[in-house]
Amino acid sequence: MPRADLTPENVLANTKTPKLRWEQGEKGRIVALAQQPYFEWVHRLEKQQLAGGEPVFETKKTRKEEEYEAPKMEWVSSPICSGDNEVLQKSGIDPDNCKVCAASRTHPEDIRGPQRRWALTVFQYNCAPGSNKPAVPFSGKLVVWNFNDKKFNELVDIVEDFGPLREHDISIVCTNGQYQNVEMQALPNAIWAQDEASKTFVTTMWKEQQFSDSVLRDTCGRTVEDRFLVEDIEGVIARADHVRKFEAMKSGNPQADTLLESAGTADVASALDDLLGSAGSSDAEPPPSVELEEPSTQEEEASASSEAEASSPAPSPVVEEPPAPTGEKISVASLDDLLD
Ligand SMILES: [Zn+2]
Repeated sequence: MPRADLTPENVLANTKTPKLRWEQGEKGRIVALAQQPYFEWVHRLEKQQLAGGEPVFETKKTRKEEEYEAPKMEWVSSPICSGDNEVLQKSGIDPDNCKVCAASRTHPEDIRGPQRRWALTVFQYNCAPGSNKPAVPFSGKLVVWNFNDKKFNELVDIVEDFGPLREHDISIVCTNGQYQNVEMQALPNAIWAQDEASKTFVTTMWKEQQFSDSVLRDTCGRTVEDRFLVEDIEGVIARADHVRKFEAMKSGNPQADTLLESAGTADVASALDDLLGSAGSSDAEPPPSVELEEPSTQEEEASASSEAEASSPAPSPVVEEPPAPTGEKISVASLDDLLD
């Protein structure tokens, strides 16, 4: 490696955006500073895991704590939908403008339509351990809070009942760390705006560190080049076909031989051989339904997605694009106007 001067141009761009994350049972306190959250329509591509060619299932729990078996999925990518917002709001998919939506129309069981992913800049108070009371001295940080439409609707309710979010702290209790489920409670006041020192602390931070729309966009999903998108879509459909063939064989479907022939992978053939050799096909259990109540939400997806992104060796390349103009930025002056 060459040597480098200790100069700003040799500082690598910080690609890690600080995000709001909670531990199970953790309490906290936040205040939303941006009045308009950013959003993108985002697809989530995933496929069922295989072990030795055999589809993998996992035990999950419903909200009523009842256990059930569900396909164990692996994340493939979270491409930002290139569909038109108005079309998506109306129809859920926009096959004319987005390759993933087009695949979703032809393979609705394998490729889902996009969901809105929101990104909101919030100030997270440093709190006394185990409480939602701000620590002394006053401190905290700006983070991006990503959430789904369900949480968006809850925030709308808070705004309707209490008024602007920046005037009301929100107390948080994390009820499920894995899925990042939180219970929110709006509080009467915003502590950051109650004295000059903390107000200066937060407005300075907002001025210096607020996230651009392109940063917020990247926290919602990825812009994936067409050729990689096609690869991802084909991979998901091929995997779903593989699973269907396997399950057909397992349940003694008379067409399974034909399906097996067309499956064309050594993995499928050997896994099916193993299965048929050991368990036989006629008395095998049919695959469990995947239509059970599932606690799968965008929050889970966010969690799974960020984990997968962290460990994935070669995610599809990201293409920087100018952010969509989804709202005007709020200036520090307007914060002051609002609160003085
Ligand atoms: Zn789409």
